[in-house]
Amino acid sequence: MKKTIFKNSTGGKRGIKFSGSGIDQKPVQELIPENCLKKDGVNLPELTELDVIRYFINLSRQNFSVDTAFYPLGSCTMKYNPKINEQLAALSGFTGIHPEQPEKYSQGALELMYELQKSLAEITGMHKVSLQPAAGAQGEFAGMLIVKKYFESKAEKRTKIIIPDSAHGTNPASAKMCGFDVLKVKSNSRGQVDINELKTLLGNDVAAVMMTNPNTLGIFEEEILEISKIAKEHDILLYYDGANLNAIMGITNPGLMGFDIVHVNLHKTFSAPHGGGGPGSGPIGVTKELTEYLPVPLAEFDGKKYYFDYDFKNSIGKLKPFYGNFGIFVKAYAYILMMGRDGLRKVSEDAVLNANYLKEKLKNDYLLPYDLVCMHEFVFSGDIQKKQGVNTVGIAKRLMDFNIHPPTVYFPLIVSESMMIEPTETETKETLDNFIDIMKQIAEQIKTNPGQVAESPINSPVSRVDEVAASRKPVLKYSGSHI
Ligand SMILES: *Cc1c(COP(=O)(O)O)cnc(C)c1O
Repeated sequence: MKKTIFKNSTGGKRGIKFSGSGIDQKPVQELIPENCLKKDGVNLPELTELDVIRYFINLSRQNFSVDTAFYPLGSCTMKYNPKINEQLAALSGFTGIHPEQPEKYSQGALELMYELQKSLAEITGMHKVSLQPAAGAQGEFAGMLIVKKYFESKAEKRTKIIIPDSAHGTNPASAKMCGFDVLKVKSNSRGQVDINELKTLLGNDVAAVMMTNPNTLGIFEEEILEISKIAKEHDILLYYDGANLNAIMGITNPGLMGFDIVHVNLHKTFSAPHGGGGPGSGPIGVTKELTEYLPVPLAEFDGKKYYFDYDFKNSIGKLKPFYGNFGIFVKAYAYILMMGRDGLRKVSEDAVLNANYLKEKLKNDYLLPYDLVCMHEFVFSGDIQKKQGVNTVGIAKRLMDFNIHPPTVYFPLIVSESMMIEPTETETKETLDNFIDIMKQIAEQIKTNPGQVAESPINSPVSRVDEVAASRKPVLKYSGSHI
């Protein structure tokens, strides 16, 4: 581990020297009451300006990002974020407005939100979209609140939500947080919802079925129309987790599949950066029947001016201060305009083509549990390599030695030693071929010298970390001994 900046400190060095202010100096004790004074020095590192610059530049170079190398993170669409998005979001007209500013002085921002709502409604096949939720998980939460309120207003007591076993963990968590019981439905041998099992679970105590399509195995649910038909026969609502929208844009949409509520992740499909805890945005769209339940406000247009509409009869209320994460709206809207209708369709086509290319080229080296045409991502199992002495963590760490970010591992939970690979549409054939080559080399190394692979990573700033200790015993408090 590199030294911290505190350990690099040598007494007496300075970065900046102020020239005299012309004001008489007085001891601090004369200006601040004794009991308010810090007793034991401020303990700041003392270094030259150049020391500080080098320290932070070198630290920043230890970051890995989609801007530095290949990043095949499945079910997250960690795609390249076009730089023009940043430039547009940084325009002073956007950064300088205040959320309390009167609507007549925020017409441009309102227009952008209105147009974004409309574009997302068209892309998802929904009637109206609210931009309130701060991320996909909050969109799900909003969706579950809508489901709840909808059945309450019909005086129906429905307490259960059906969720496939391949779902992202936020799905059952959101349902549970809204007070629902979660029923799990198994996947069949084709990695899709087992419709016969689903039928046994449907009843008039079920409020909604939450699905991701393509699902988290990267497989399109072939029986989705049948599923939505039988759900509707029981008056059950269908919720669409839109995290995998990158696979279907402009080709089909959740509305056509029979879904009633949809969230999209602007920070995934629509190229706003995410990761590192940065802000997200998870707009939620609904059918006409559910519009009155949407979280407010929505941006509206009366033919002359744009305004915020809070007037929704059964709204679940607000989820976010003000209007949502506006900077993300600018980036997503810029991306949608830049791509256009045809461009968005091409995004999905290329994302699917790239994933299938990798899958086909590597499926003789790694176990492919569901050997179907995939959508934008697919899931390998590391079971063959595990028998040879290296588990999926080992493969992931070895990739780091080749300057490639590991894919999502150990998710979805229904595939043992899973590796979920999503190249996205922006990668070139050369990058994909390089990845194929490296994955083949790793498989070969595991066959011939598993002990060596198990020591990876050897080229990264830190080698194997104790991940369990890091999550179970995080050191969150400042303490002199850690610096
Ligand atoms: C990312 C993701 C979510 C959660 O979205 P956030 O924006 O991270 O809150 C839900 N479902 C799936 C399938 C996802 O990939």
